[in-house]
Amino acid sequence: MSLIWEDVARLRQRAVRREVSAVEIASAFLERQEVTEGKIRAFLYRPPAEEILTQARSLDERMARGEEPGLLWGIPVAIKDNMAVEGMPMTAASRILEGYHPPYDATVVKKLREAGALVAGKTNLDEWAMGSSTETSAFGPTYNPWDRSRVPGGSSGGAAAAVAAGEVPLSLGSDTGGSIRQPASFCGVAGLKPTYGHISRYGVASLASSLDHIGPLARRVADAALLYLVLRGRDPLDGQTWEAPGTPLEMPQPLDSLKGWRIGLPKEAFTHPALDAQVKEAVLAAVELLAARGAQVEECSLPTFHLSLEAYQVLMAMEAASNLARFDGIRYGRRATGESLQELYAKTRGQGFGFEVKRRILLGTYLGQAPQYPLLWERADKVRRLLRAEMEDLFRRFHVLITPTSPTVAFPFGALERDGDLRSYADIYTIPANLTGVPALSVPCGFAPHLPVGMQLLGPWGTEESLFRVARTYEEEAQWPLKPPLGEGTGVAGRRQP
Ligand code: GLN
Repeated sequence: MSLIWEDVARLRQRAVRREVSAVEIASAFLERQEVTEGKIRAFLYRPPAEEILTQARSLDERMARGEEPGLLWGIPVAIKDNMAVEGMPMTAASRILEGYHPPYDATVVKKLREAGALVAGKTNLDEWAMGSSTETSAFGPTYNPWDRSRVPGGSSGGAAAAVAAGEVPLSLGSDTGGSIRQPASFCGVAGLKPTYGHISRYGVASLASSLDHIGPLARRVADAALLYLVLRGRDPLDGQTWEAPGTPLEMPQPLDSLKGWRIGLPKEAFTHPALDAQVKEAVLAAVELLAARGAQVEECSLPTFHLSLEAYQVLMAMEAASNLARFDGIRYGRRATGESLQELYAKTRGQGFGFEVKRRILLGTYLGQAPQYPLLWERADKVRRLLRAEMEDLFRRFHVLITPTSPTVAFPFGALERDGDLRSYADIYTIPANLTGVPALSVPCGFAPHLPVGMQLLGPWGTEESLFRVARTYEEEAQWPLKPPLGEGTGVAGRRQP
């Protein structure tokens, strides 16, 4: 198999056994990017090839000197462009950060480097991670590798498309309301939003701090698990991180049988009017496959599901307005000129922020004022508490809950703008996990008809390992094709022939 479609653990193993060098791995992915990047535009910045090859060469030399190779030795990883990488520009896909070069690495990037990974570049996103399609990026959208007339999802659309197209084996995304899982589902890759506080956010642009998570995207569940294992852990620079107790740094294995596993299907999710019939069918077929492997599947109820979207919108807008106040033209990026300090602030923000960002800042600022503030915040927070209590209840009965990741497959460009329902409901399945902090994993579960569908697995706090094991069990059984019809054109939608 060509290097670029190999799974990450095997690729690293081959590098460690010196069957391939880090330079050969890096070159294979750089060549692939030459073929596909012009078609999908997943990256906002890629360092000169020579820079990456120099780093790869240094890995090869270190290995030759007998250095112990890290878990991601020689593996290129793409970073969503709302995370700081020393020596690379950072834009958050916003004009307001133009010219900003962070002088340090985000903790996740530092951990990647320590594990021997190569930073492949910065991927496109919706401006400040606000959106579900990458269409709000100030630098133009990314195209879905499965069908270039469709969006890749968002906000981590570049991260998902880069991995799906084989430009990198792994990428990092951020998820405040679904921004890792929905693009993962639209591009046919796996994406994890971990438990709140499992992965440090130091050096990552804050959108809504009580909802923000960082996580991995990969073509295979095992690869996502590996990246998660490298990244997780307490970081004194993000006070909300914590060490998951008692779980060893070990790759979660697939299960021979799912006997004894109880899976709940929240009926509110499967009966929602926004749910596309073919998406529903694909997810239920996947659930059947889990049942055939011995899982006990039962319908259940999450009554507060239907209020999550509204609660999210209130909390997200208020927190975003407050977080984005620091981009004033003084500290970071672009600066307009003004007669007074006030004018400088206003002009910088007026010129630098795009429409969607302004809309949310205005909404959040308005909501954050008396008399509506205490009332709305109180209610949104109550929804969050109810949802958490209902989930806790369900997790006494079930090991895993399953829903679709998104109500639809990837939609055409412009559809979000035209279709209010599509816009409103894009995140209904992903938001509850952000509000409650529980881990949620999206895994490819088929095509409808030629576009990937994602299934979402949710578990109690800190149960990433279980989610990975169940998802790997499913993935092994289902064997969905991994290659989109780009470049060499080897991907054909449908079940792989034995
Ligand atoms: N699509 C959602 C929004 O627009 C989620 C964004 C995110 O997770 N960053 O708010």
